[in-house]
Amino acid sequence: MTAMDSKLAIDGGAAARSKPLPPNYPGASVIGAEEAERAARVLQAQSPFRYYGIDMQHAVRTLEEMMSAELGIPYALGVTSCTAALVVALKALGIGYGDKVIVPANTFLATPGAVVASHAVPVFADVDDSLNLDPDDLERVLDDEVKAIIAVPILGNPVDMDPIMAFAKRHGLRVIEDVAQSCGATYKGRYAGTIGDIGVFSFQMNKILTAGEGGAVVTSDPLLFERAVRYHDQGLFREQARYGIASPEEEHAFLGQNYRMSELTGAVLVEQWKKLGDIVSRMRANCAAIREAVAAGLPGLKFRRSADPAGDIGSNLGMVLPSAAQAGRFIEALNAENITAHLLYGGRPVYMMPQLFRQRTAERSGFPFDYPFRRPVVYREDMCPRAVDLMARTVYMPVSPLLDSRDAGEIADGIVKVGRSLGL
Ligand SMILES: *Cc1c(COP(=O)(O)O)cnc(C)c1O
Repeated sequence: MTAMDSKLAIDGGAAARSKPLPPNYPGASVIGAEEAERAARVLQAQSPFRYYGIDMQHAVRTLEEMMSAELGIPYALGVTSCTAALVVALKALGIGYGDKVIVPANTFLATPGAVVASHAVPVFADVDDSLNLDPDDLERVLDDEVKAIIAVPILGNPVDMDPIMAFAKRHGLRVIEDVAQSCGATYKGRYAGTIGDIGVFSFQMNKILTAGEGGAVVTSDPLLFERAVRYHDQGLFREQARYGIASPEEEHAFLGQNYRMSELTGAVLVEQWKKLGDIVSRMRANCAAIREAVAAGLPGLKFRRSADPAGDIGSNLGMVLPSAAQAGRFIEALNAENITAHLLYGGRPVYMMPQLFRQRTAERSGFPFDYPFRRPVVYREDMCPRAVDLMARTVYMPVSPLLDSRDAGEIADGIVKVGRSLGL
């Protein structure tokens, strides 16, 4: 690099990249004729509903079968969103008013929001240097009112599930994996989402695969699956024969909601699902190339730890800066180089979102926070100090599957240039 090249774009130098990176929508950016044709077939067949129609295409069923086969799990259910999937999962587990659910401090508002929508109350466990749930902090928030743990692999990086499953087993807790951001990630060779009692996926625009909206629930347990199907379909259990689950109606029936996936969504997702392997291998290769070059150029830079680096889908490169102030300067300078980089959720734990921090719900009484818990649920800013510290100084750079080796080289050069000038 010449002296000329080393002047930062933010100081008037030439940008490392002449144009911005492609927008970070991995699945959406590979939508093509396949999705359009399969969705058109659903419309041409005049059959957009999954359970009956004029000339049924069975798109949602096909998606469920593809997910089940690839993930290696017996049961998959398409639903309208991951928020819906979380509610369905919690209801399948029988969780509700008077129950607490452990949620990591680093997650999207939807995770604790779905707990509240299920009439339970979230309690927050801290993260470790993987920025995912810290298994060693579970004990701190455990009491006999806690019924489940939601593990959330943040931005493609798998959660350390073994100690979480061991803890859950020891204390009779259920485990949900919220894999919304990490479709395709693995942990010790198993797909994220298939390790806990229930896994939930998102197919919203911002996620790895998308139909704009959509979600899925997966499990190995036939009873949990039956309860999930019932809750997502008004308490009904249609197509029982398909699953080989014989359910005496009077025994297992209860009222549900409507979280059914449309055939149009299913059609798009069948084609998206076929592209998952390719998307993930491209992101992994791009992320590895960038990381390697950055590590060589900035030997002092710390990367976000992974509990299983081989299982990370490479959708984001996480860099942990020495301070929040340096993270802010790093982001500003990278953006000027046309390299997208940001903190996640404004760099603050999810429980600091005012609606959650103040325990505000749509109900007049503050339900379900009004339950007379034996150990009251109180939120304080400092209850998860590592999340407060690390989230404010962990910079994520999204890695698109569309990058070529030249893009990866320019990105790495830009990061190294900015890092050196900041003395990292
Ligand atoms: C996006 C997201 C959700 C919500 O997904 P929707 O499909 O939009 O409902 C839930 N959990 C996490 C961790 C997410 O990132």
